[in-house]
Amino acid sequence: MQPSSTSDSIDIDAIRIPDDACCNCGRQNDLSIVPTPLKKTRFMLLGGSELTVTLGFPYCSGCEKTAPKHAIGAFGKLLIAFVLFWILMFGVIFMPFNLAAVLPGAMLPLAVFSVALVVTVGYFRLRQPKPPKTSLDQPVMLRSVKQLFGGDIVGLRLGFSNTSYKRSFDEANQLQIASGVLSTEQVG
Ligand SMILES: [Zn+2]
Repeated sequence: MQPSSTSDSIDIDAIRIPDDACCNCGRQNDLSIVPTPLKKTRFMLLGGSELTVTLGFPYCSGCEKTAPKHAIGAFGKLLIAFVLFWILMFGVIFMPFNLAAVLPGAMLPLAVFSVALVVTVGYFRLRQPKPPKTSLDQPVMLRSVKQLFGGDIVGLRLGFSNTSYKRSFDEANQLQIASGVLSTEQVG
């Protein structure tokens, strides 16, 4: 089998970006093109690598701020829960009522960690954008990247929070999508 040719790689500049509606709320006036850094972090045993593809998407003045805001991933949420755990543990230890006496051994940290996890998950569940805004973070994100060792990107998957914007993006990029190098999905 022949090694895959670089001609299959994606041409980032050839990606066509519909500019007639805000990619977050869908508003059709008061638009400006804002560079949107789409980031994908890969975790490896020792450190990780990060790939950023910056594309200019249209935003209205109300949604412009969401362009650089990367959504907090599962790892970030776990980190928040962990910090909250230590804050709660600190509180429990210095509470006048001795909870440690009621919940022996590992029970106390386990109970506190469960509370921290529930609070964190609950917070992110409740944190919803106000319609027609579709996202409080970037309305477009990089879901996955297929890259050759040489650095050529042979597959790019973008996620969109706005359904109708995703539809116009799909229509504008039919060729690249049909060739398999570009794909999209609905997020949120
Ligand atoms: Zn908007």
